[in-house]
Amino acid sequence: MRKFSRFVPIKLGLLIVTILLAYMIREHSDFWWLWVLGYLISISMLFRQEHPKSTARNMAEDALHLEMPDHGGEGKSVIVVGGGISGLTAAKYLLKAGCKVKLVEERSIVGGNNDPYLENGEHHSTTVIITLPAQQPHYLQLCREYGLEQTPHEFEDLKGTIAFGDRELNTKMGSGVGGFLKFIYREATMKELFDGFLIFYKFYRQYKLRPESNKSVADVLGKRLANSTVFTHFYMPWVGINTWCRFEDVTTQPAHVFASFIFEYALTLDIRDKTAKYKEDYWSVLDGRLIHKMRDDLLSNDNFSQHLNSKVANVEKDADGQLHVVAESGDRWSCDSVVVATQPAHALPMIDDVAPPILVKELEKWKQMDCYVIFHTDFSDIGNRPWLHVTHKNETTGKNYITNTIKPRMGDLNAKFLITYVYNTENYLDFKANKMDESTIVKLYEPKLPIFNLENSIDRNAVWREIDTECSDVFWTQACRSGLQYHNNGIVSSKRVVRQLLGLDW
Ligand SMILES: Cc1cc2nc3c(=O)[nH]c(=O)nc-3n(C[C@H](O)[C@H](O)[C@H](O)COP(=O)(O)OP(=O)(O)OC[C@H]3O[C@@H](n4cnc5c(N)ncnc54)[C@H](O)[C@@H]3O)c2cc1C
Repeated sequence: MRKFSRFVPIKLGLLIVTILLAYMIREHSDFWWLWVLGYLISISMLFRQEHPKSTARNMAEDALHLEMPDHGGEGKSVIVVGGGISGLTAAKYLLKAGCKVKLVEERSIVGGNNDPYLENGEHHSTTVIITLPAQQPHYLQLCREYGLEQTPHEFEDLKGTIAFGDRELNTKMGSGVGGFLKFIYREATMKELFDGFLIFYKFYRQYKLRPESNKSVADVLGKRLANSTVFTHFYMPWVGINTWCRFEDVTTQPAHVFASFIFEYALTLDIRDKTAKYKEDYWSVLDGRLIHKMRDDLLSNDNFSQHLNSKVANVEKDADGQLHVVAESGDRWSCDSVVVATQPAHALPMIDDVAPPILVKELEKWKQMDCYVIFHTDFSDIGNRPWLHVTHKNETTGKNYITNTIKPRMGDLNAKFLITYVYNTENYLDFKANKMDESTIVKLYEPKLPIFNLENSIDRNAVWREIDTECSDVFWTQACRSGLQYHNNGIVSSKRVVRQLLGLDW
C-alpha cells in the first residue's frame, strides 16, 4: 500500500484554500473555473510520489552534505587545470587533505565563467547573476565558511517582463507559485492559460514523477505545444535562457533538464538546505566575492602555487608512468595526479591519451555553444524593471532567438549597468545592430557553454560515479557534470572527485 507523505495535511489545506478561492473569485471572472482547475491539477500533482530515479531525486542527492577529509593527501602532488569555481574548490579540498597543489589557469585571473568585474574598486556582477542559495547548499556552505552574507535581489515589489509577442507579461519573480500564477492568470488569454498549464504539468511529471529518460523537450511537449506562443514566447525566454536551450536545442535537450530550472530554482518545490536563514532563501546576487575569498585563501597556503596566463596543451605519461602537465609556453610540471577542471571540449584534447576510455567517451558527448554577455548602459527597453526576457526574430536568418536583460542587483533602480545574455554569433550581431544602442556597450564577455543533450545528461550521478571510480590519477570535473551548470554543481562535483582521488567513494 502507498504510504501517505507527511505533507498530506498541507495538501489538504491547499485543497480547502482552492475551494475558498473558487468561491471568492467566481463573480469576478469568466475564467474562474479554469483558474481553479489549474490549481486543482497542481495540487493533485503534489499528491503523487517522487520517482526514485527522477531528476528531483538526483538534485536532492547533489544537495547532501559531503564530509571533506583533513588528512590522507600527505606527500601527494596534484595539478589542477582551470581556475573556475570547480578548480578552486578542488584545490581547496586537496590542500585541506594535505596534498601539495599547483593550479594552472590560462587567463590572468581566476574565476572562469564567474568573471568578477572590478571598475574603480567597485564590484559588478558579470556572467553570474542569480541563485537561490538555499537550493545550492554546497555554494551556501562555502559562503558561510568565508563569512559572506547573501545579498538578495530586492524585486519582491517590482514586476519584470516577459515580452509576449506584442503584449507584455508582467510578473513578479520569486514571489512563489501562487503569486506567479495569479499574474499569469490576469494577463494571459484562455488558450495560453490552458497551454501554459499543460506544459507546466508535462515538465513537472518529467522532473519529479518519472525516471530521467532520453525524452527531449519537443518529445514531451508534442508538436502543437512546442510551437505554441506560450512555449516560444514565455517558457523559452524564461526557462530556455537559463538551461542554455536555444530554439535549435528543443529537440535535443532532455525535458528533465529544462524542467529542473522551473522546479528547482524558479518555483522551488523542495527547499534543499533546511537550515537556510533569512536572506539565504531569497534570490541573491552571485557577485564574485566568493571567488576572491577562495583565491586569497589558497594563496595563503604554503602547499599551494599557481601559474596564471598558462594554457595547458597536454597531459602526458612517460614510460615510467610519471604524469606531466605541459603548457603551450613549453613549461612542464610533473605530479602524482591531475584534476582537469575545464569545460569538456577544452579537457578532451588535453587528456584523451591518458584518461580512462570511459571518461574520454563521455567527454566526446559534449559540444559547446557561443554565449555573449553584453555589459551595457542602454536602459531604453528595461526602464525601471529588474529584468526583461524577450523572444526576438533575427532579421537576417528569420529565426527566433531569446535574450535576457537583467540588472546585476535586481531591484536596484539606480543600477549603472545592465547585462544582456544572447546565444550564437548571428543572434549577437542581430541584437547589437537592431535591438540596442551599440554605443552603450561597456564590455563584452564571450563564455562558452557545454550543451546538454540526450546522450550526456541522463542518470548522470550513476554515470559519473562509475567514471570517477575508473579514474586513478587523471580526473575531470566541471559544473555541467551534475545537471544544470550552476555553482552548486561545480562545487559538489569537485568535492566528489577530490574524495575519489583520496581513495574515498562519493
Ligand atoms: C551567462 C552565464 C550566466 C550564468 N548564470 C549563473 C547563475 O545565475 N548562477 C549560477 O550558479 N551559475 C551561473 N552560471 C554558470 C556558472 O558560471 C558556471 O557553472 C561556473 O562558472 C562553472 O565553473 P567551472 O569552474 O566548472 O567552469 P569554468 O567557469 O568554465 O572554468 C574553467 C576554467 O578553466 C580555464 N581553462 C580552460 N582551458 C584551459 C587550459 N587549456 N589551460 C588552463 N586553463 C584553462 C578557463 O579559463 C576557466 O577559468 C552562468 C554562466 C554563464 C556563462
